[in-house]
Amino acid sequence: MEQTLSIIKPDGVKKNIIGEVIRRFESNGLSVKAMRMLQMTREEAEGFYAVHKERPFFNSLTDFMCSGPVVVMILEGQEAIALNRKIMGATDFKEAEAGTIRKDFASSIESNVVHGSDAPETAATEIAYFFSSLDIMA
Ligand code: ATP
Ligand code: MG
Repeated sequence: MEQTLSIIKPDGVKKNIIGEVIRRFESNGLSVKAMRMLQMTREEAEGFYAVHKERPFFNSLTDFMCSGPVVVMILEGQEAIALNRKIMGATDFKEAEAGTIRKDFASSIESNVVHGSDAPETAATEIAYFFSSLDIMA
């Protein structure tokens, strides 16, 4: 079993599709092990996406990520990191496969509804960014 961090981004919360996004995770082999709704400060968003700080879209991305509430979750399952990214679809929704969350709900390359960790090391760091071990269900 593997764990990954998922975020329903501010656009997903505004579109009222929290339930639909979680349904897709649960019906495709992922289970929610911790969950919290919060609004990131600019500093928290910058820290979360620090890996992208040299990218031209960094300011816009961090503005967007602190623009409203998000839902952060730990998802668990077999190969949860890769499975979550498959369910999400490609970063650019125009390139995402049919039936993925981003293909069905994203409105731009930035407003793409969900975040998912991309490797075991980033999953561990990102989980610890939002959750303590006491928050995680066995
Ligand atoms: P995430 O890390 O959010 O799961 P990802 O791993 O598919 O997405 P990254 O390359 O890590 O994609 O980019 C992080 C986020 O930055 C994207 O999800 C998107 O919201 C935004 N982003 C990526 N590329 C661009 C771009 N060219 N222009 C604007 N925003 C972008
Ligand atoms: Mg990424």
